Amino acid sequence: MAKIEDPTERDAAVEQIAIRLSVPAERGRRFADLTSLRVGGSIDWVLSPNNEAQAAALVHDLEQHAIAWRPLGSGSNVLADDGEHHYVIVSLKGLKADPVFDGNRVSVSAGYSLPRLCIDAARQDLSGIEGLNGIPGTVGGALWMNAGAYGQEIGTVVETVRVARGGRVIEIPGSEVQWNYRHTSFREGEMLLGATLSLHPDDPQKISERMEKAKSQRMATQPHGSRSAGCFFKNAPAGSVGTGKMIDDLGMKGTRRGGAVVSPKHANFIVTEGDEAKAEDALALAEEIRARVKREHGIDLEYEVELWSSK
Ligand SMILES: Cc1cc2nc3c(=O)[nH]c(=O)nc-3n(C[C@H](O)[C@H](O)[C@H](O)COP(=O)(O)OP(=O)(O)OC[C@H]3O[C@@H](n4cnc5c(N)ncnc54)[C@H](O)[C@@H]3O)c2cc1C
Repeated sequence: MAKIEDPTERDAAVEQIAIRLSVPAERGRRFADLTSLRVGGSIDWVLSPNNEAQAAALVHDLEQHAIAWRPLGSGSNVLADDGEHHYVIVSLKGLKADPVFDGNRVSVSAGYSLPRLCIDAARQDLSGIEGLNGIPGTVGGALWMNAGAYGQEIGTVVETVRVARGGRVIEIPGSEVQWNYRHTSFREGEMLLGATLSLHPDDPQKISERMEKAKSQRMATQPHGSRSAGCFFKNAPAGSVGTGKMIDDLGMKGTRRGGAVVSPKHANFIVTEGDEAKAEDALALAEEIRARVKREHGIDLEYEVELWSSK
């Protein structure tokens, strides 16, 4: 079907799809409400399906009408610009049914909180994801970018992933996905609905110690409670100095652009402050860091945070 160019026609089509599938639909939201950096412009529509089948049907219908959409979890890895974003956000946070444990396996939907899943798994004496405990996102967001911390990555424990294809929920083996450093082979426009993880039993005391250790390391090294999106840049290839240390050595901790600041606690974190903070402040600061690192070390820093443009 041809793309609907007329905004009124498009809005009518979105509304009809939402009503037909009984998907909650909202207008007038901003990325500043939906992302952890608390900046970013307006969104035309936010549609929030409640279960995996509904989400699969929804994105199929949007695609059938050539209506642009993007998936969003907790928004803890996204910097959206300050403009008007003329596409539909499909929020996965409603896909949060309780995970189902079966022996060493757990089946979980994309909108479920990753830290909660880590705690649930620990309560079942299952190990494999305790290092991911403090990552403040959804399971879907973690799968999308192969989230990891303290020597663990989600991709290593994924047995199968459920994705939306042709309006249906399809299960694919985790072994078919390339799980790289903060990057996967999922293609743009792939909606991840859930996954089955294969964990392994371990001594509950040891699991709890590892979770505590990860948590205390996080609290000690990261700006807890601030508005951030975690590490802004990926680490350069193994062997070189960590990106945070590199930025710190340039004396950039505390550097400010408008309402965005290089965290004094962790130089690879950009935090936003105050009601006037803008996405453009964070982006300008990030580009300044990249330029300094390029000039002093000849390294092109790659963004770990996703930059979403309204253009
Ligand atoms: C304080 C702090 C600490 C952090 N520490 C870490 C860390 O240690 N390790 C780490 O890896 N990350 C870390 N992060 C970054 C972030 O929390 C992770 O990337 C997290 O997995 C993102 O999940 P989310 O639900 O917030 O995804 P979002 O930010 O909502 O989305 C991120 C990307 O995933 C896509 N996406 C989300 N859900 C789906 C879905 N269901 N289907 C398809 N695509 C989807 C979005 O379209 C977007 O492209 C940290 C962030 C903060 C704020």
